[in-house]
Amino acid sequence: MTIKLKDSSLLKTQAFVDGQWVDADSGETFAVTNPATGEHLANVASVGAAETRRAIAAGERAMTAWKALPPKTRCDLLENWYQLIIENTEDLALIMTTEQGKTLAESRGEVGYGASFIKWFAEEGKRIYGDIIPGASDRRGVVVKQPIGVVAAITPWNFPNAMITRKAGPALAVGCAVVLKPAAETPLSALALVELANRAGLPAGLFSVLPGMDAPAIGGEMTSNPTVKKVTFTGSTPVGKLLMKQCADTVKRTSMELGGNAPVIIFDDADLDLAVTGAVAAKYRNSGQTCICANRLLVQEGIYDSFVEKFAAAVNEFRIGNGLEGTTTHGPVITEKAAAEIHAKVQSAVAEGATVVTGGQPGEQGGCFYQPTILTDVNDSMRVFREEIFGPVAPVFKFSTEAEAIAMANDTEFGLAAYFYTESMGRSWRVAEAIDYGMVGVNETAISSEVIPFGGVKESGQGREGSKYGLDDYLETKYICIGGL
Ligand code: ADP
Repeated sequence: MTIKLKDSSLLKTQAFVDGQWVDADSGETFAVTNPATGEHLANVASVGAAETRRAIAAGERAMTAWKALPPKTRCDLLENWYQLIIENTEDLALIMTTEQGKTLAESRGEVGYGASFIKWFAEEGKRIYGDIIPGASDRRGVVVKQPIGVVAAITPWNFPNAMITRKAGPALAVGCAVVLKPAAETPLSALALVELANRAGLPAGLFSVLPGMDAPAIGGEMTSNPTVKKVTFTGSTPVGKLLMKQCADTVKRTSMELGGNAPVIIFDDADLDLAVTGAVAAKYRNSGQTCICANRLLVQEGIYDSFVEKFAAAVNEFRIGNGLEGTTTHGPVITEKAAAEIHAKVQSAVAEGATVVTGGQPGEQGGCFYQPTILTDVNDSMRVFREEIFGPVAPVFKFSTEAEAIAMANDTEFGLAAYFYTESMGRSWRVAEAIDYGMVGVNETAISSEVIPFGGVKESGQGREGSKYGLDDYLETKYICIGGL
């Protein structure tokens, strides 16, 4: 393998089941490649339903002792894991950039962000409070919160570290076991994380990682196995809907963090420079491949031309390339297929009348690269208004009134994140309350951290990750009536 780490034992290619590194029963493997170079990185074990079943059974066994531990003991172990992640930031970042493509600076940022969920939930795990409910004089109602059971987690490739920690952190902190299927594009980050969890002293069976090419086989077992009480998923809306349907037969609880179609609304009364900086970050972070990336820029007519000019000037400063090189500001997209799909969306917009201000073509480097792109002369009947682009393409729409901007923002089945820029206090409140989104950034697009509730409404999903609310997704509420007083 061609990733030069300080600690080469972080590079794992087997599955981790019941505390053991194992090959797939079938002996099958799948290839992991570097999207910046096309280079083959590793062959990773491709497990299926049988290994998933064993991991779930091991989780159930391990949970019995784990959930009975004092919260502090559980949380101390999570704290150890956090420390190990921080100590190994450089190696984890190198693995991430090499298999995912984002720049090293972004990868380092994600490792810190991912670790913050472990630390946060190591702290919050000690604060799982219940209630005492007054009633008749001979009785009291007691409400306790208990771990929901074995949790199955399915994660995407765009955040190969943080999407795992913000599920595993709260689940483990409250006393659950976790079986995880990472994305096939980025299994190495997941396997390095579980290696560190193992070194931190997490008991065998509590956290298994199941890489595999056959997602329906692994997901099918996770969603049908009655021992799994909760499925938590981050990924595309069609797969999320499918998993919810599959979970219905055994009435599992689900948390779904699905697609977005985030607007950035820039009003005439915005601080223009602040808006340009925020829009650039919201659109092009991770080369446009985050579910809260700006998908539609909605700019009021009075400020439209000056916004486009400054926005294009900022984008033309980007240095596209291999994320391992220090000068690179933006890496490739995840696969050649993704680059081709992005190009098809741009071409469809152009055929419908859009104008390319900058970019609009596959990257000069070829392969998985796509040029950062800005489109004008776009309208709400085009595909780029409705569909999540998931790439470095910014369509800039024009509107005239606040009411029109709100209607455009809400004209989507999605409702994850939205952002707007205004200097008016009244408008800040009006618009924030009128748009149907789980998260709203006012004069700010860097809205995510471990202390806030991350999640969407409408077809963007259900449940919240991070913050004190993030524990609830992994807890059951039990009412105990204490009578005969
Ligand atoms: P993306 O388009 O971002 O890859 P997906 O929803 O396809 O989004 O993938 C997110 C995660 O869901 C990945 O780990 C992928 O392997 C997994 N996945 C895809 N299809 C299924 C399925 N039918 N059952 C379970 N997991 C699936």
